Amino acid sequence: MHDSTRNCSPSLVVVTLLAIILVLLPLRAQCFAQSEEDHRAMLRALESLSSERMLANVTTLSGPAFNGRQTGSEDDLRSAQWLAQELTSVGVKLPIIFNTPLTFPFALSQKRTLVGIMASMVPTSLIAPNPVIRTGTADKFVTAQLGKDYLPIFDSPSADLQGQIVFVGYGIVDLTQGIDDYAGIDVNNCIVLFLRGKPDYYQGSISHADKVRFARDRGALAYLTATGPILNSYETRRGVTGKPSAFYGQLPLDQALPGAWISTNLAENLLAGSGEESAPDRLRTLQEQLNRAPSTRAHQTNRYASLHWKTAIPDGLLTNVVGMIPGTGLETIIIGAHRDHFGRPAGLWFPGADDNASGTAVVLEVARALGKIGLRPQRTILFVSFSGEERDLLGSRLYTSRPVVPLSSTKAMINIDHAGIGNGRLTVGVTGFEKTTAQEAGLTAGVADKLDLFGFFPGGDHVPFKEAGVPTVTIVSGGVHPHFHQPTDTAETINPEILQTVARYVLALTWQLANAS
Ligand SMILES: [Zn+2]
Repeated sequence: MHDSTRNCSPSLVVVTLLAIILVLLPLRAQCFAQSEEDHRAMLRALESLSSERMLANVTTLSGPAFNGRQTGSEDDLRSAQWLAQELTSVGVKLPIIFNTPLTFPFALSQKRTLVGIMASMVPTSLIAPNPVIRTGTADKFVTAQLGKDYLPIFDSPSADLQGQIVFVGYGIVDLTQGIDDYAGIDVNNCIVLFLRGKPDYYQGSISHADKVRFARDRGALAYLTATGPILNSYETRRGVTGKPSAFYGQLPLDQALPGAWISTNLAENLLAGSGEESAPDRLRTLQEQLNRAPSTRAHQTNRYASLHWKTAIPDGLLTNVVGMIPGTGLETIIIGAHRDHFGRPAGLWFPGADDNASGTAVVLEVARALGKIGLRPQRTILFVSFSGEERDLLGSRLYTSRPVVPLSSTKAMINIDHAGIGNGRLTVGVTGFEKTTAQEAGLTAGVADKLDLFGFFPGGDHVPFKEAGVPTVTIVSGGVHPHFHQPTDTAETINPEILQTVARYVLALTWQLANAS
C-alpha cells in the first residue's frame, strides 16, 4: 500500500469516499436508465415478431422454387442469394467474404467474391429418378416401392447388381469390446443387411460410414440397413418409426458402396424365411439377442436383392450466408440455422419445411426485429445460414475453419433446428453456460414455462462450435416430428405459434447474450 494512504486521517478517507460515491451516482443512474430503455426496446422488438411472416418465409423456402435446397445444387446458391437479399432488406449488413481460390461454377455468379456468401466446392450426388430395388427368393422377385419400402442412400454410387442377402446384426466390428457381427460368415459378393444404431450396452462409437467400410472390406457388393423393431427409450421419445429415411452415408467416393435404407417391415419380411421355416418375428428375436450381450447372429438368408440406379456426382458449390449487426465492442455472438435439405433425389421431392426452413425463418425474423431495435448491442451479432448440415455438418465446419470473427472472441453460438412442429415446448441444449442464463431469457420472452433445459445434444450445427470451445445453445421444438426426413415435411404441417415461441425466445436470448458483461 502507498504511504500517503496509510497516513490519511479518518475524516479525509470519509470525504474521499463520499466524493467517489457522488461521482459514481450519476453513472449508476445512467446505467439503470440505459437498461430500462433496453428493456422497453426489447418488449417492442418482441411485439414486432410476426408468425404470419415466418410462415410465409417457410412456405417460400420449402416451395417448388427452391426445390428442396440440396447442398451444392444451384438451389443451394439461389436460396442463399434470396436470404442474403432478405437480410439486407431488414437492415443487416453483409460482410465481404473472400472465397478465393474458388471458381464459381454457375453462370449467375462468376465473381469470386459474393457479399455475405461463404462457399466451398463439394461433390454433389444426385440419384436419377426411378431407382429400382427388387427382393425375393432365387426364382421369384418382387419390386419394392420407393419411399414406402426403401430409399437409396442419397450419396450412394450407381448400382446395377444382384446378390444373396446376409444378415450381420448391427454390422459392428470392435474386437476390443468382443463384438464381431461378421464372425464365421462370408459376405463376399453378397448384400449385407444391418440394423441401424447399436445395442445399449455398447460404449464404443460407431458411425454408419464405419459399418459400410466393414462391409466393403469383407467383399460385400452392397448393403441394406433398417431400424430394428425394438426401439430404445430415446428413439421412442423422438417418435422414430420403421419408415426408410432420407440420409447421406458420407463416405469418400473410393470407400462407398451402393446401399439403401429399407423399412422395418421389409427387413422383417426378408428375415422371416418362407414355407415351413417361416418365422415372422425372427428379426425381433435376433435383435433381442443382440441387445442382451455380444453375440454373433450373422447368417445367410434365403433371400436375394437386386439394386439398380444411376448416380451423377458433379462438383457443386456449398453456400453459407453471413449477415451482421455490428456491436460496440470486439466480441461476437452467432445465431445460426441450417438452410439445406435433401432436394429432389431419385425423383422424390423433400421440401424441408420443419427441417429447416423453420429455423431459417426464425433467424430472419429475429434479424428483422434486431435490425429495427434502434440500440447498438455491445457484441456484434452474426446471423449465419448454414448449408451442408444434412451432410454431416459440412457448412458449420466450413464456418469454424474460416470464421468471419475469430472463434476466441465468439462468446456464444445459438442454433435453431426443427422449429415448426411439435408439442409447443422448446427443447434447449446448453453447453458452456449456466442453465440459469438460458432460463433468464425465457422469463424476458414470457416462455419460461415452456422450456426444457438439457446439456449437450449430439448432431446439429452447434457441434463444431462446441468442439472449438464456443459456448452453445441449441433450440429444437419439443415433441415428435413425424415428417422428419420425409417428403411429407411440408409448410402445411407447420404450426405458426411454435415459430412465434421459438422466435421470442431466440430474440430475448440473443439480446441478453449480446449485452452480457
Ligand atoms: Zn435434417
